[in-house]
Amino acid sequence: MMQVVILAGGVGTRIQAMAGGLPKALIPVARRPFIEHQFTLLAKNQIRDVVLCVGHLGHLIEKHVGDGSRWGLRVQYARENPSALLGTGGALVNALPLLQDKFMVMYGDSYLPIDYAAFVRAFEQGHCPAMMSVYRNAEQWDHSNTRVAEGHVVFYDKKATAGTAKFIDYGLTAFRRDLIQRYIGYPVPLDMAIILQDLVKAHALAAWEAPTRFYEIGKPEGLRELETFLNRMDHADTTRHPAIFLDRDGTINEMVYDETHGLLDSPRRPEQVVLIPGAAEFMCHVRRLGYRIVVVTNQPGIAKGTLTLAELEAVNQRLAELLATEGAQWDALYFCPHHPQGWPGFSSPYVRNCDCRKPKPGLLLRATHEHDLDLTKSWMIGDGSNDIEAGNAAKCQTMLITKLKIEQIERFYTLESAVPTVIATNFTEATSIILSAQPL
Ligand SMILES: [Mg+2]
Repeated sequence: MMQVVILAGGVGTRIQAMAGGLPKALIPVARRPFIEHQFTLLAKNQIRDVVLCVGHLGHLIEKHVGDGSRWGLRVQYARENPSALLGTGGALVNALPLLQDKFMVMYGDSYLPIDYAAFVRAFEQGHCPAMMSVYRNAEQWDHSNTRVAEGHVVFYDKKATAGTAKFIDYGLTAFRRDLIQRYIGYPVPLDMAIILQDLVKAHALAAWEAPTRFYEIGKPEGLRELETFLNRMDHADTTRHPAIFLDRDGTINEMVYDETHGLLDSPRRPEQVVLIPGAAEFMCHVRRLGYRIVVVTNQPGIAKGTLTLAELEAVNQRLAELLATEGAQWDALYFCPHHPQGWPGFSSPYVRNCDCRKPKPGLLLRATHEHDLDLTKSWMIGDGSNDIEAGNAAKCQTMLITKLKIEQIERFYTLESAVPTVIATNFTEATSIILSAQPL
């Protein structure tokens, strides 16, 4: 996805009274610094590369944002001297060493809730070296300043008199890098409006009409409107998530033959961890469908003294690494360290009757509470009857993954609480079952 340049070097004179010594990017809006809302929006639109042009109080922005990885972004900085600002166009010239062949530019104080992929597609399909987003404003949000004809901007003047134009500059523009290169050495401060007006004269500025209004925090009333909008979105975002609860041993990773006790057991050392075929791919698929993945695993070895918490952590770590090499990850992992009897001669605070050891549903219920999950849309998937019982007790749908023959799984059907919603023989089947389940 195309790189985004954010112009965040400005002083923000109109909002200073509310900023309290903060740069505009860090002014709190709906309980978070403004720039975090911009980043979340960009990340949701699959944007990864961001160049932040910083000047006034730029060090505070850098300190807060860092490399942007918290939002899944790669943020680089083009710094300018706060006492000799270059203007919005000059900031782009200054950022040239970081710019890709094509990029989008937006202001550090605007929030533009549009489909960025649609904008990029339109730019890629056009023939102009630049494309400006416009909004059919009709004097609604600010003075209209732009006229559009046949897909091109034919007039653009930030100081246009009221009533002379129908559209307003929406705040997102795409450029080809070579266009900005022509302004190397141009006197500063250089406003981006100069570049845009040059393009209008050359009939080389495409127009893209944004379907929804923009928000900007340059003025206190704009900030309040954005706050109302974000709070509403936030509310919509807190709808609960569907989850796939996954058993660990025998479901995601193979069991290990324990020679000492002559039985199949959980891996105790990282090098014993082997992925079950298809598990990682399944996790990738369902996560893309919007399910949270929560691993729920009984680890009674802790209570029995056959496994330390550090060993368990190392095994989980290895499992996460192996999954990551196939692009998969879980959202959360919950384990039960308890066992009702423990091991003769070993005393442990974990020996007790708990609420979390499957077939009890405690781990699933805790995850549901801590991650806002919707059990009615969730699945518990595992290879054991205790998994199915736990899922049924939590009132989610249940899937037994097993290669056992039907006569061998008869025992599931003697105990009503252990009857799964469906049975799959492998993760390929599991994927199609989830896909054909009711839409989320
Ligand atoms: Mg298992």
